[in-house]
Amino acid sequence: MTLAHRLAGLGHRIQLFEAAPELGGLVAPQQFGPFVWDRFYHCILPQDSNLIALITELGLKDELRWTRTGTGYYADGHFYSMSGNADFLRFPLLSVADKARLAFLVMHATHTARPHDLYRITAQDWLIRWCGQRGYETFWRPLLRAKFGPYYDQIAAVFIWATLTRLQGARKGTSKREQLGYVHGGYASILRAFRQRLQARGAILHTGCPVRKIEPTVRGTVRVSCNDAAESGGEFDQVIFTGPTRLARRAVTPDLLPVVEEAEQRYPASGAYLGVACLTLVLRRPLTPFYVLNIADPGVELTGLIEITNLIDRHAETGGHSLIYLPRYLDSADPAFDSDDRALTESLLGRGVQRLYPDLVDADIVDRQVHRARFVQPLPLVRHGAIGAAFPGLRRPFMVLNTSMLECATLNNNEVVGLVNRFVANEAVAFADAGAARVPPQ
Ligand SMILES: Cc1cc2nc3c(=O)[nH]c(=O)nc-3n(C[C@H](O)[C@H](O)[C@H](O)COP(=O)(O)OP(=O)(O)OC[C@H]3O[C@@H](n4cnc5c(N)ncnc54)[C@H](O)[C@@H]3O)c2cc1C
Repeated sequence: MTLAHRLAGLGHRIQLFEAAPELGGLVAPQQFGPFVWDRFYHCILPQDSNLIALITELGLKDELRWTRTGTGYYADGHFYSMSGNADFLRFPLLSVADKARLAFLVMHATHTARPHDLYRITAQDWLIRWCGQRGYETFWRPLLRAKFGPYYDQIAAVFIWATLTRLQGARKGTSKREQLGYVHGGYASILRAFRQRLQARGAILHTGCPVRKIEPTVRGTVRVSCNDAAESGGEFDQVIFTGPTRLARRAVTPDLLPVVEEAEQRYPASGAYLGVACLTLVLRRPLTPFYVLNIADPGVELTGLIEITNLIDRHAETGGHSLIYLPRYLDSADPAFDSDDRALTESLLGRGVQRLYPDLVDADIVDRQVHRARFVQPLPLVRHGAIGAAFPGLRRPFMVLNTSMLECATLNNNEVVGLVNRFVANEAVAFADAGAARVPPQ
């Protein structure tokens, strides 16, 4: 949508095809019992300058809210706060030496490490080198398992570098507590503003339109077909596919396959995708004081709990209810994506949350839902050889532009907006010269 917004702003005539019934992809809104919020949890960091500039451009700056949030850690039957430096110093599961090593790692990562080199070593090996076996097993391994599921020991160290660098900026001031943000109304507010701006510029937004076929024509244009209905779709002088590369592979005809293959080769993160299955609970009462609770207990079938109502104002946003996300990250091919909701609920709720909070009873739960997304995060797995592909450039008349092209970064919307901004800025001349039929900018 950012790309559509930028190109419509340059005067191009845009059509956007979205497979789902509503706009938004992973940031789409969801009706949770009595209120609407993002289907998956999202926060904004104070240093998310690309995203905040976009929100401002969309007229929503005054709707941005900031909250001091806390992080918790559950291990050995105890809850620990890890919300600031004082908590970290008190944390009993690491020795003074372990803590010193961890502090050196943070300093190294944020000041001297060279991120491209960190594609060549696993996070596991890098963290053991810096924090020792005990520090790794006590602190890091549970976090890696929570975030990467089956890929926890294959992920490249660059991910840790990107996470530490990103989180450093969220922890400001003497207390070093993190400050996180959101837009009043959630991403639904941002999507609404996008839709209004795009439609005002004449863009046509098709929802419920999975692109099934992308083929070149003899006129040098590209024909896009949706569903099986021959009349849905259109012919365009430029098509940019922004979904996962492997879904582009399914849609293109053989003449366009080399474009997709080149994207796969240059940006190998598209080779493995992490997906997520997430149970959401709407509760009559708060559960934790934390935005994120990391869980490192093999007896609990849950690795993380996100209580977003410790970030967002529960009175203004969720009618006083608590909204909790219980994610399980899975390989995109995991059969659990096809398992029924009951099995997942029994695991994450019955053998997960209720082991941590045995007093949580059915009467506390107003609504529960399971949501799945198969292609969430292109995985930065360890790789050797040349690292650092060239930044994607405009390829006519068809190209792929997506999150597998983010380098030395975690997956977040600030990076996504930054990728689009840089792409459009780099290609300003080409976009200005493009022979596309234009509408005057409004
Ligand atoms: C659990 C979770 C937590 C997250 N937390 C944060 C956070 O705190 N902060 C943050 O900044 N980011 C967060 N993110 C990441 C954020 O959601 C992504 O950065 C963002 O959604 C990526 O946008 P995208 O458009 O690249 O991909 P997507 O949102 O995946 O959109 C791709 C779209 O392409 C569509 N599509 C695919 N194939 C076709 C086809 N053939 N035809 C038509 N349409 C098609 C899909 O339906 C989808 O709508 C989180 C994501 C998840 C899942």
